[in-house]
Parts: sequence; structure tokens; C-alpha cells
Amino acid sequence: MTRFALTACHECDLLLREPRMPRGGIVRCPRCGAELYRYHPQSIDRALACTLAALVLFVLANVFPIIGLALSGHVVYTTLYGAVRVLYLDGMWPMAALVLVTTILMPLLQLAAMSYLLLPIRLRRSPWRPDLLFRLLYLTKPWGMTEVLIIGVLVAVVKLAHIAGVVPGIAIWSFGALMLLLAAASAAFDSRDVWARLGAPR
Ligand SMILES: [Zn+2]
Repeated sequence: MTRFALTACHECDLLLREPRMPRGGIVRCPRCGAELYRYHPQSIDRALACTLAALVLFVLANVFPIIGLALSGHVVYTTLYGAVRVLYLDGMWPMAALVLVTTILMPLLQLAAMSYLLLPIRLRRSPWRPDLLFRLLYLTKPWGMTEVLIIGVLVAVVKLAHIAGVVPGIAIWSFGALMLLLAAASAAFDSRDVWARLGAPR
């Protein structure tokens, strides 16, 4: 008896034989038209390059000041973690926790999980318990909100410009580039390709 790999449409649950991926093409569900797979050329290399570059920018974005305020000839700088700490000390701990989780913790976990999955594959090794890391990746992805942080900081810069001189720090540029690289890494990360290289059921 011939055995076929099966897959299910994530939209309408239609059970299908695993389709052959056309080079440069897209596979759609024959019933509802939802996109099942998209061809990502060199997805592992591209996703890994974006992830490692994003990790470097993540360090820069958290080590260097994000913004400085010039008052009476003095410029006071703060890092993102410094802003979280001030929020906490001022009694706004729910806001501090939200900023900490969505702009520091979740992007870091997302980058760590992607590096953990992609690096061993690139070195032709198998990571330990990739299923756990996949779960962590899908849990953390919706909670990473660096783009919201950038918009929030830009709004704050415009508002504060009326009362004090605002000096953008290195971290704000790093966060901007990090936002783009995170999006590029997520777009290049092809979980189907990763599972195929791990030799696990897809
Ligand atoms: Zn469907």
C-alpha cells in the first residue's frame, strides 16, 4: 500500500495529500483558496542572517540611550530599561511590565528561539526538542511589539519637543532597524522547510 504525506488546510480543515511545491510558486487550498505554502528560496540562510543581525541590533538598542532631553543646558539620557525602571518606581508597574514584556522580553525570546532552531540546521546538526522551541516561537511572536514602541517614541518626541529639546539616541535608530529585520526574519522563516530539514513529521 502506498503511503502519502497528508496535510490539512489551516482555514477550512480540508485534508489534502502533501502537494509538490512549485519553484517560485504558491500552493493554495482547492476548496477555500487559502494560501497553504509559499516558496521561500534559501529560507534558512536568509532567516538566520536576519536573525543574527537583529540580535546585534537588539543588544545596541538596549545598551545605548533611546532618547535624551535637553533642559537648562543639561541633556538627560535614558535607555529603554531605564524608562521601564522609572515607570515601576513611579508606581505604574502594569505599564512597566507591559513595556518590558512587549519590547524587551518577547523580541529577545523570539530571536533566541529562531537562532536556536536555525543555527544547528545551518551546521547540519539537530537542535534538542525543536517542538518546544516552535511552541515558544509561536507564543512570543504576537507579543513582540517593537513597531508600537517606535510609533510611541515618535509621538512622545513630537509632544516633548514643545517643552524640551529632544535628542534621539542610538537605540531609537537601532530599534527602527530591528523592527525591519524582525519582520524580514519572520517572513523568511519557513517552518515547513525547518521541519523538513529536521526530518520530523510536518
Ligand atoms: Zn481550505
